[in-house]
Amino acid sequence: MINLYGQEIKKLIALMEQEGQKPYRATQLYTWLYQHRVQDFDEMSDISKSFREVLKQKYCLSLPSVHTKQVSEDGTVKLLLNLEDDYKVECVLMRYNYGNAACVSSQVGCNMGCSFCSSGILGKKRNLTASEMVGQILILNQILKQENKGQRVTHVVVMGTGEPFDNYDNVLDFIKIINHPKGLAIGARHITVSTCGIVEGIYRYADEHLQTNLAISLHAPNDELRDKLMKINRAYSLDKIMKAIRYYEKETKRRVTYEYLLIEGINDTKEHAKQLVELIRGTKGYVNLIPYNETNKFPEFSRPSGNRIHAFLDYLMKSGVKATIRKEFGSDIDAACGQLKAISEELVHE
Ligand code: SAH
Repeated sequence: MINLYGQEIKKLIALMEQEGQKPYRATQLYTWLYQHRVQDFDEMSDISKSFREVLKQKYCLSLPSVHTKQVSEDGTVKLLLNLEDDYKVECVLMRYNYGNAACVSSQVGCNMGCSFCSSGILGKKRNLTASEMVGQILILNQILKQENKGQRVTHVVVMGTGEPFDNYDNVLDFIKIINHPKGLAIGARHITVSTCGIVEGIYRYADEHLQTNLAISLHAPNDELRDKLMKINRAYSLDKIMKAIRYYEKETKRRVTYEYLLIEGINDTKEHAKQLVELIRGTKGYVNLIPYNETNKFPEFSRPSGNRIHAFLDYLMKSGVKATIRKEFGSDIDAACGQLKAISEELVHE
């Protein structure tokens, strides 16, 4: 069975042509799936009964199921979803005054092995399919609809578990589907992909010429420290990343976001701020500071005091670098950055 959710439009057109259908059949299906959000072929009233039967034989409309739903004090929702092979992934719904943002996972587990992040502890089990990523949004949309008519996911960040550029093709299909006007119609500028710095991915992504946002998890301003914190840096050093970012800016005319974790005593001194300013000089990007979310998995890392965080921010701003502090959501239910870790039932109940 082919899952109709998660078929990028060109791929769906090709599938429909194989069935002897005209290309418009694909957009018609998109409208039913993503705009009317029907969950049964028989509700697709402008598709002939005989073709609906063909669809039923070869295709399915399958979504992950909700295993657990947690709601934070701030209204953030974290879902633990069951996948078909019993692996589990998490996604998070954050409520901003400008809309509803979904934080989507791209893999079951993660192989990047950043020394401070819970999502990588057990390594990567597998990539998520485009349909499993689209499914995360569709299920969050169902929750929003139950709460309040007319609400839907308006912003998407691919910042859950996994490294999106280690699952490039599926992530790209996912982006195209949620961005398509007959798909979920989420504007490109409301979609952000975050990478730990897989350089080939940055070049490929630049060549797509999308108007989406790209965020780079920098976290250290020099190779010596970044090698220690993020093992991916041994493959793609900072000069390679910065070169790729310059190419991305030139190709897309978009600026990137530099994500910079602040970990007490590790990367949060004035000297680090100075090096960071030097590193990104000449690029248009701005810095999003993420105060470290503490976890008992890594007792050696802690969050700096508010004063230290603001001193770092002030240094950047005085040096002419635009910077913000990331708003934290759902830390009481382990939904904040770096806290997602589900892979299987055992892990969840540990
Ligand atoms: N693999 C991608 C997508 C994950 S985004 C990437 O690395 O960009 C999740 C973000 O949260 C990354 O910037 C990650 O480095 C950061 N993070 C990891 N552990 C964290 C923690 N304990 N506190 C705050 N942020 C953390």
